[in-house]
Amino acid sequence: MVYRYNCCFLIFFLCSCLYADLDAKKRKKGALDKGSQSCCIQEAVQEESLEQQEKDAEENTKEEDVGEQEKKERRYIVRVLLYSWTDDHEKSIQLKSPEGFWVIDPQNKSHPLVFNTDTLSIDTIGGNLCLEGKKVARDHFYLVPKEGCISFNGRQYKGAFLIVHDRRNILLINCVDLEDYICSVLHTESWPGWPLEVNKVFAIASRSYTIAMMQQANKKNSSYHVCNTNLHQTYTGTHSVKILHDAVEQTKGLFLTYENKPVIAMFDSCCGGIVPAHIINFDFVKAPYLARSYPCEHCKCCKIYQWKVKYDRTELEQIFASLIPNFLRLKDMRVSKKDKAGLVQEVMLKPGSYTTSGKRLYSLLKGVKSFCFTIRRNKTTFTFTGRGFGHHLGLCQWGAYEMVSDGFDYKRILYFYYPGTKLARLSRVSKDDEDHEQTEIKNELNE
Ligand SMILES: [Zn+2]
Repeated sequence: MVYRYNCCFLIFFLCSCLYADLDAKKRKKGALDKGSQSCCIQEAVQEESLEQQEKDAEENTKEEDVGEQEKKERRYIVRVLLYSWTDDHEKSIQLKSPEGFWVIDPQNKSHPLVFNTDTLSIDTIGGNLCLEGKKVARDHFYLVPKEGCISFNGRQYKGAFLIVHDRRNILLINCVDLEDYICSVLHTESWPGWPLEVNKVFAIASRSYTIAMMQQANKKNSSYHVCNTNLHQTYTGTHSVKILHDAVEQTKGLFLTYENKPVIAMFDSCCGGIVPAHIINFDFVKAPYLARSYPCEHCKCCKIYQWKVKYDRTELEQIFASLIPNFLRLKDMRVSKKDKAGLVQEVMLKPGSYTTSGKRLYSLLKGVKSFCFTIRRNKTTFTFTGRGFGHHLGLCQWGAYEMVSDGFDYKRILYFYYPGTKLARLSRVSKDDEDHEQTEIKNELNE
């Protein structure tokens, strides 16, 4: 059955690759960019928004079974950057798949090469991109496992791999189904031991964020949509935690929109009761749904709502020495500017008048958990006392957990943390659309 799945994936994937190149050709011609993931999602948002004009968001999530017979799933592929290096390094990485690989040349997609070995090496030799030690004539190619997953660095990944030689960089990109990606992200960004309902909240927030990032990356014509680090969302491949799979399955395709656009659904661990609308230096015009004007009081009982950490002067001097040229000694340090929300904007170090930001201290000092804190000095000890864990924007994970305990469902929680948003569902493809797409593929192959 797995083999059948992968055959299907290969066929689907070949179509996806073809569309990617079709899109490139059409863009060159200035024609309509139909068929790209970006376009699919834009269409999806537009389609759903039309539905939303007629039905409120409560109803929107109930009507997906209508027309189930005539429509089939459209798959959305996320391109996740797993690893990169520059081509001036002689380097070799290994990808593993027990039953072998299909290697797809973008210029000859209808004839994938078969490699029956369980390991393939991707190398850079003399500035060239190589596969199994042989120079690759293209600037990108795809690897699809004949069965199951591809392993890289001890982790297993569903879907296919795209290897790109972009200027001087070699990019290793996992092309994975959106739903599989979200399920994986929950493993590291969520709390597997928490109830299903709260994981449904996180699944929708994560999906919304990912779709927004996909759109942004497609507009820039980027090779990948997201990185696998906390720059976007941490992603470590497959897992078998049932509750997370259930949370994704039960919210399949659901995402948040604001004025018909996918929401950049940021979240942190604990908001600390900060009112986000009072935060300065954040562009709420681009993301009005993050400007919540009322506090979350649901996280008050969690451990990280309030925190305290002490640093010895010597320890701080060593850390600041790496930040400030010629820095030798720290006499005192105090918060000199806060915004209305209580987030630290400026910290002054003495002697002298060197200033740094709360964000900078948050990134330098592991014990500082958020941007909201005070500093007190007692002889040579500095005590930081603060609230919350993270950046204070969007969904508060501990708050969501408590809301579920208090009987709120996932929709009410999402609307609480992202005011003004609506739920939408990614579109499916009708039989007519599918026939049209198949004709386009055939025409393209015959060119
Ligand atoms: Zn909170």
